[in-house]
Amino acid sequence: MFENLGNRLQDILEKLRRESKLTEAQVKAAMREIRMALLEADVNFGVARDFVARVSEKAVGAEVLGSLTAGQQVVKLVHDELIETLGGKAQQPTLKNEGNVIFMVGLQGAGKTTSTGKLAKFYKEKGRRVLLVAADTQRPAARDQLRVLGTQVGVPVLEVANGETPEQTRARVQEFQRGDFRDLIIVDTAGRLQIDEGLMDALSDLKTAMQPTETLLVVDAMTGQEALNVAKTFDERIGLSGLIITKMDGDARGGAALSARFVTGKPIYFAGTSEKLTGLEPFYPDRVAGRILG
Ligand code: GDP
Repeated sequence: MFENLGNRLQDILEKLRRESKLTEAQVKAAMREIRMALLEADVNFGVARDFVARVSEKAVGAEVLGSLTAGQQVVKLVHDELIETLGGKAQQPTLKNEGNVIFMVGLQGAGKTTSTGKLAKFYKEKGRRVLLVAADTQRPAARDQLRVLGTQVGVPVLEVANGETPEQTRARVQEFQRGDFRDLIIVDTAGRLQIDEGLMDALSDLKTAMQPTETLLVVDAMTGQEALNVAKTFDERIGLSGLIITKMDGDARGGAALSARFVTGKPIYFAGTSEKLTGLEPFYPDRVAGRILG
């Protein structure tokens, strides 16, 4: 991922780096090239436009142009702006001592169930007592998949029965808690190939019953800009607190990952980096920017 974009940006910046003193025209030309490179990597139009506008403004405003290290300074501005675009400082879900409920939502195939298993492993290794709730009643295979993941990780999985109401699910979780207290509950919900009203209503009812402390949207990096329209709809209907971007190990151009923060306004908490349970990493904007710019 980011390979083409990385190569393009590195070429543009290498030319700039060599320049001492820059004219406004040179900066403008470089910014046009950067904007093209971002758009070709499927970065959202507004994100690409604002990106170069901010860098240009700072380059001119800070009186960088006439200085002997102008090229290097503009390269640094691009680097810093990339970190900002990816979300600035790394952020993680907020967890209290107990009473934590993470609600996982997303379209079918995005990697929701896999990411639920990965999160269980991640937090178990941090000393959390995790309970998984398999609430995907649309796809019975998803419950089987989560049961297998739960066994592999070594955490219990409570399966929602067909036809069970959200209130019944909540009552069963409470009953489970009386016998075996858990401080973090992760709920894997139903996905569809496309958003529909029925799905949103069902998710909304379950969310009301489960009272999550974090609601995470699982976004497939391979699906590009469309994934971000989906994110906006989920946020409007369900309310999101953060994102997990999966399949960062694939050959996606990277536009969805780069645009996600600005388009949705939500932090990217984690990146999925393989199909395996170990393939989940906290998302560090500075490291990702470093990888892109080489
Ligand atoms: P769900 O329908 O959203 O629950 O999706 P699944 O969790 O079943 O995942 C769909 C497919 O994507 C499966 O084949 C997963 O192994 C794969 N997958 C999920 N996350 C990642 C990831 O980060 N990297 C890669 N390469 N594959 C992933």
